Amino acid sequence: MIPYSRQSIGEDDVRAVSKVLHSAFLTQGPAVKKFEDSLANYTRAHYCIAFSSGTAALHAAYAAAGIGKGDEVIMPALTFVATGNAALYLNARPVFADIDEVSANMDVRDAEKKITKRTKAIVPVDYAGRPTDLAGFRALAKRHRLVLIEDGAQSLGATYRGKPVGSQADMTMFSFHPVKSITTGEGGAIVTNNKNYYEFLRMFRTHGLTRDAKKLKDRTKAAWHQEMQVLGNNYRITDIQAALGVSQMKKLDGFIAKRRAAAKRYFRLLADVPGIKLPPRAELDNSAWHLFVVRVDARVRDRVFAAMRAKGIGVQVHYLPVYMHPYYQDLGYKKGLCPKTEEFSAGALSLPLFPTIAAKQQQFVVDTLRSILKRS
Ligand SMILES: *Cc1c(COP(=O)(O)O)cnc(C)c1O
Repeated sequence: MIPYSRQSIGEDDVRAVSKVLHSAFLTQGPAVKKFEDSLANYTRAHYCIAFSSGTAALHAAYAAAGIGKGDEVIMPALTFVATGNAALYLNARPVFADIDEVSANMDVRDAEKKITKRTKAIVPVDYAGRPTDLAGFRALAKRHRLVLIEDGAQSLGATYRGKPVGSQADMTMFSFHPVKSITTGEGGAIVTNNKNYYEFLRMFRTHGLTRDAKKLKDRTKAAWHQEMQVLGNNYRITDIQAALGVSQMKKLDGFIAKRRAAAKRYFRLLADVPGIKLPPRAELDNSAWHLFVVRVDARVRDRVFAAMRAKGIGVQVHYLPVYMHPYYQDLGYKKGLCPKTEEFSAGALSLPLFPTIAAKQQQFVVDTLRSILKRS
């Protein structure tokens, strides 16, 4: 089976993890800070806080933005469910805006139409690793005094207008699940330039506890004193994971270069395949190429999917619109909410793409797809 994605782990990664396993700290040790520094450095953000998962990081970022009961958070539905769930954890309401059909990222104008008095934050997603219209969303967020949180789970290593993703929203979330740009097994992070967010995020990651003398409400207590000031979680990343992250960060640019080369090869191989729509080429050298999503006729998509799988090709669908999941339907979200997202989703097919995919594997994927489409 050619998987749709997979991690790239080398002996250097194994050594880095092994070193931590023999050290004094498996968690709450020095590797976490090293990983955070490496991410902040790479993204040119002032602060970075690593978490146990991207989902935990999103939950924390939404909480840092002050999102709470009854608030609304605008986001695309063409995303992983976690983008929406993080709002539900805080008793807030995800409000879904439609995509721009060219970029497949959230449409700035449709997002603006969804703003109400209750809107607190706007969360564009860098779908497939392609940076969202950050300039447009920044202006929108500023105009309406909203917090801009970028879901960059898929776009670590991408650039927007010459700057790395992570330096341009109020907070940017990354994920280190094995299919993402780099991996720590499970893991996530928030990068930000805002000190208040940073301090909140640190507390939220550790149960809402602080020892920071400047922050304590009761300063009369001895040095052991710490205070729980918000309802946080144990969302810490381990040193084992962080050491893997540090090691993987050294190879990030190499991984992205290989993803881009593989994407280019797909464009070449797929150019004359009838019956498909290709992803936009425009941002080829800026995207992190998390996914290579082609679109086929919605009426044949599921048959093509099954036939590809039967040939050992791990195609995927990214995504069912978040609000089409039963849990969201039960909350009252209705089909038809984001027509362009639904149309995109119905024909979407992600082809295998990862740094070590071989040219021969890509050729096999394309030859197989071509012959299946001919028969469909
Ligand atoms: C992967 C992903 C997440 C969640 O990250 P985890 O690390 O798996 O918790 C959130 N949003 C998007 C768009 C993702 O791709």
